[in-house]
Amino acid sequence: MGIQVQEVGPRDGLQNDPARLSAAQKVALVERLAAAGLRRIETGSFVHPRAVPAMADSEAVFAGIHRRPGVSYSGLALNGRGVERALAATVDEVHLSFGITESFNQKNQRQSPEDNFRAFCELLPKVKAAGIPCTLTFSVAFGCPFEGQVDPGRVMSFVERAAEAGFDEIGLADTIGVAVPSQVSALFTRARGTIGTRVPIAAHFHNTRSTGLANAYAALESGATIFDAAVGGTGGCPFAPNATGNIATEDLVYMLDGMGVATGIDLEALIEVARWLEGQLGHRLEGMVMKAGPFRTVPA
Ligand code: ZN
Repeated sequence: MGIQVQEVGPRDGLQNDPARLSAAQKVALVERLAAAGLRRIETGSFVHPRAVPAMADSEAVFAGIHRRPGVSYSGLALNGRGVERALAATVDEVHLSFGITESFNQKNQRQSPEDNFRAFCELLPKVKAAGIPCTLTFSVAFGCPFEGQVDPGRVMSFVERAAEAGFDEIGLADTIGVAVPSQVSALFTRARGTIGTRVPIAAHFHNTRSTGLANAYAALESGATIFDAAVGGTGGCPFAPNATGNIATEDLVYMLDGMGVATGIDLEALIEVARWLEGQLGHRLEGMVMKAGPFRTVPA
């Protein structure tokens, strides 16, 4: 399998951005991303509108987008009600996620990681019955705002069981942006060693402490095949006010392009999307390639 870039800006980016976009603006964003060559776009989330007000209109966004053939529009859910809403909105993939540590998950989802995992395993057949794939992502897999360092053995136990349960992809997320490349290499290498290549592993990094792209490189070298990123580096971190967001998709694509890793994404078009989004949000975005521009190896 090749390397896939998964755009999470419309979900992870916008849900943490101080500015609110209308459903029509979100639809325009998703369509611009698809036109730039993104083939996997996390388009919204189906969580309680009180918990994440910025995603309350995800149904309208899914109803508004013109579906491009070959593009997968996914939705995030955190419980059975969310999965029902996602399926009703005809998402192309369901993404499930819970926090790997006890305190983080109790605070965010009011249950233990073990109970959450069991609940998601019970939801899996419902998603499979709809004939679409289901990803399970472990949040705070590299560090927790309440418990600090996370035991890699704990992560591996969930990874192994998720693979056995039949999830189509497994994601490891550095939700608060604290990981460093050596840690990423160790965890992804261990995950690969545990489950082999039967289930693809996705890497989800935030650039909160400027290690995001270095971590993506480490994950690439250690067997990750799916890379989450948000156009313009949108988003933030709910536990670190003023923190920067996800790694910027165009920064990631610049790196992969230069390394000869094919993504099918048009970097110049993507930079234009980032600049357009900056105008829509009305504040500066963190992406760097959107400011510097691409590097033409053959001078114009
Ligand atoms: Zn995230």
